[in-house]
Amino acid sequence: MKMKCVQVTEIGKFQLTQTPLQKPGEHDVVIEVAVTGLCRTDLKLIQVGHRDLILPRIPGEEVVGTVIEAGMGVSGVQIGDLVYVYPGSWCGQCTSCINGAENLCRKMEIMGFHRNGGFAEYVTVPAKSVIPVPEGLQPDIAVFAEPLSCCLNALELAGIREEMTVGIWGAGPAGTLLSRAAAALGAQPISIEPDQRRCALIKGNLSCPDRNFDICVVAVGLKQAYQEAIDKLKPRGHLVVFSGLPPADDRLKINFNQLHYMEQTIVGAYGCCYRHGVQALDLLSNRAVNVEDMISHRMPLYDLSTALELVKHRKGMKILLYP
Ligand SMILES: [Zn+2]
Repeated sequence: MKMKCVQVTEIGKFQLTQTPLQKPGEHDVVIEVAVTGLCRTDLKLIQVGHRDLILPRIPGEEVVGTVIEAGMGVSGVQIGDLVYVYPGSWCGQCTSCINGAENLCRKMEIMGFHRNGGFAEYVTVPAKSVIPVPEGLQPDIAVFAEPLSCCLNALELAGIREEMTVGIWGAGPAGTLLSRAAAALGAQPISIEPDQRRCALIKGNLSCPDRNFDICVVAVGLKQAYQEAIDKLKPRGHLVVFSGLPPADDRLKINFNQLHYMEQTIVGAYGCCYRHGVQALDLLSNRAVNVEDMISHRMPLYDLSTALELVKHRKGMKILLYP
């Protein structure tokens, strides 16, 4: 049996093609993809590559779909279940896994990067990585669990507590979700976004206001944003390195005496853990985080070129793809 998919064969090139449907190995399930979220990382992965990308590859790390087949030894998930797929597979035995940071597992394999993802009709994934979608939650909303999970991981690493002020640089899909996640956790998010349209949508500030924050999160890959954010930390504040920087820009001037005297922390955040997926689905399901208004485009997978152009030019907000 063959399936339609998008395959990246070399950096900068992808094609719509057909590949054989992968049979589930032991402890795997086959998911019929209902919807895939497109994110800026996919654009980066296709156009300039990514540290974790192994070619050729079917991208797509934000997936919701229905279990249609189960391999040997699968338990806890049934054929016909609507599930969200946590994009990582982890060993469960290394130091990171034991410490509850399976996103940093030394054997981590990310769907859409190390192994095939959801830009396809079907995707085969480890059964332990699927999370049932709560009753009544639509696939189009549940698919936000992946980017929302990454925001929850970042805010957790920053030690977020109720009433804390959170400065968020960038109000694209990630920045918007960070803001809504912070609000759902009882904190006070304030967005900084120079794009007038996006700034208006989030009721943010076009430039950084004259104030400091308990947490600063940079959700835009700009060195200047980091440089600004680090100077806006309160005593004991945390700066979260949420967005990566182009390699040519990854060295910043940091005043270590400021960190020393103000007891401030810089913390990196990359991806998410399984538990963040559970937490994200819960927040989406009980409407503590609303995302419906963030869906700007619903497009067929074969229109990926157009969709990537929209992401590239920061048009619209969240784009959902259907195989
Ligand atoms: Zn591990």
